[in-house]
Amino acid sequence: MSDFDIEALIRKSHEAKAHAYCPYSKFPVGAALLTKDGTIYTGCNVENASYPLCLCAERTALVKAVSDGHRQFRAIAVATDMVNNFAAPCGACRQCLLEFGAEWDVLMSKPDLSYKMLKTGELLPHGFTPDALQTFQDGIQNGKN
Ligand SMILES: [Zn+2]
Repeated sequence: MSDFDIEALIRKSHEAKAHAYCPYSKFPVGAALLTKDGTIYTGCNVENASYPLCLCAERTALVKAVSDGHRQFRAIAVATDMVNNFAAPCGACRQCLLEFGAEWDVLMSKPDLSYKMLKTGELLPHGFTPDALQTFQDGIQNGKN
């Protein structure tokens, strides 16, 4: 069981799609990020004529939350208009979500609000985490690197 309203979070992620700026892909994505204290930040994809600068909905929500001082999260819901596939975060977003822990929930949904739920660490197994850098720094201090 979950300690938050899964359907409400998924619904918010679908509502966030309405703000997607996606004139190039025409693929609107929405995200709703639930912080540990219960605040919800939404995000949408924000594309750019310089394609590599496009920002995903998940990272938009994450940046909004972190820039407001949040670093602990319970869940993020992700929404697209795909009816045959759950909305899975891209690799870059998986890495950015993992930065804030491997044990919080990612809710990948469809427009009918059905969803698949995995932990951030399950979405990016063997990911590069802050712990890896700390281990490296410890090695430098001990003269091992
Ligand atoms: Zn992404």
